[in-house]
Amino acid sequence: MSADAIVVGAGICGASAAFALRERGLDVLLVDRGTVAGATTGLGEGNVLVSDKHPGPERDLALLGRALWAELGVRFSAARVTRKGALVLGHPGGADASGLEPALAPGTRALLEAGDLQVDPGGLTRALAAQVRVREGAEVTGVGPGAVTLRGGERLACEHVVVATGPWAASLTGLPVEPRKGQLVALAAPRGLVAHKLVEAGYLDAAAGDAAELMLASVIEQTLDGDEVLVGSSRERVGFDPAVRPEVTRALVQRAARWVPALRDLPVTRAWCGFRPWLPDGLPAIGALQDGLWTTTGHEGSGIGLGPVSGRLLAQLVCGEAPDLDPAPFDPRRFARGARPARLAAERR
Ligand SMILES: Cc1cc2nc3c(=O)[nH]c(=O)nc-3n(C[C@H](O)[C@H](O)[C@H](O)COP(=O)(O)OP(=O)(O)OC[C@H]3O[C@@H](n4cnc5c(N)ncnc54)[C@H](O)[C@@H]3O)c2cc1C
Repeated sequence: MSADAIVVGAGICGASAAFALRERGLDVLLVDRGTVAGATTGLGEGNVLVSDKHPGPERDLALLGRALWAELGVRFSAARVTRKGALVLGHPGGADASGLEPALAPGTRALLEAGDLQVDPGGLTRALAAQVRVREGAEVTGVGPGAVTLRGGERLACEHVVVATGPWAASLTGLPVEPRKGQLVALAAPRGLVAHKLVEAGYLDAAAGDAAELMLASVIEQTLDGDEVLVGSSRERVGFDPAVRPEVTRALVQRAARWVPALRDLPVTRAWCGFRPWLPDGLPAIGALQDGLWTTTGHEGSGIGLGPVSGRLLAQLVCGEAPDLDPAPFDPRRFARGARPARLAAERR
């Protein structure tokens, strides 16, 4: 079996890269050891946010990413793109938000980011994967320019290899990608309790930080189907520890109830965790690892929002097109021996 490009990993990042390469005329094979959207992409909350980003390259990418989601939503109804807007709770520049969101605790001040979206990440990922050849249940054990090797020894030849294995990307890319665990809770809720995506202002620093210990910051939203409210989120660097901890569930609900008091009395329907693909400078890696070997990974808690635009940026680089934005901050080779990632260098000055 051969292809112009083989993309390893069929989460939102891999499926988006595969689709963008296909749109440029390449014959693409998308390979996953599990199923399309069967890992991190199927576990998250489905928010496409600009409101949770500090100014900088990630926010610039997020603005393009949100616009691309809106375009893809027109083309693929399975993406279920809904423009509900986000309120950043406790933001210093915020105003009284009780008129916008009656369930908020009295006196809560918030900043409105009206353009933020809620989407179905699995729906879009499956729709994009359907545009290329897919091989599920095939674990890749080795990659190099011109070929990938599957468990069992089968070799697949190609011109370009793209590694998009999310939190598991370290072994195939050599990049310092780590899993950053996140736990979520779903509560049975009356329809229409919460209209916007609600993000505590402290979430911006929790997401941008690099602490190993447990960090909590409230994110709250009604599901697209409307019968549950999802409450997050936690961050911990504890490897691939799959334990869902009841004390974290309780702490998440208690914290969220400070913002939306009605949450305190709602029954928990589900609690689960996933692993965000995290890189030490907080930015994704999008681009070449070496000639013919590429990656799009390390999107942490923003891979749903940033996955499609990262796939397009990668395809532009693979095909030698002018990229939509400066790719330098996302260059995977910034972690090469001796290189100093720009953001870390700036912080340490
Ligand atoms: C609790 C939680 C909530 C989140 N909420 C949001 C949100 O609201 N908005 C947002 O933007 N982001 C959110 N995220 C982050 C987002 O889910 C991730 O950044 C994104 O899904 C990562 O996608 P990916 O394609 O890189 O990884 P994945 O979806 O994990 O895909 C990687 C794929 O690679 C495959 N794979 C791994 N190793 C191999 C191998 N050796 N051979 C073959 N296949 C392999 C896996 O089976 C998997 O399918 C959340 C994350 C969590 C954990």
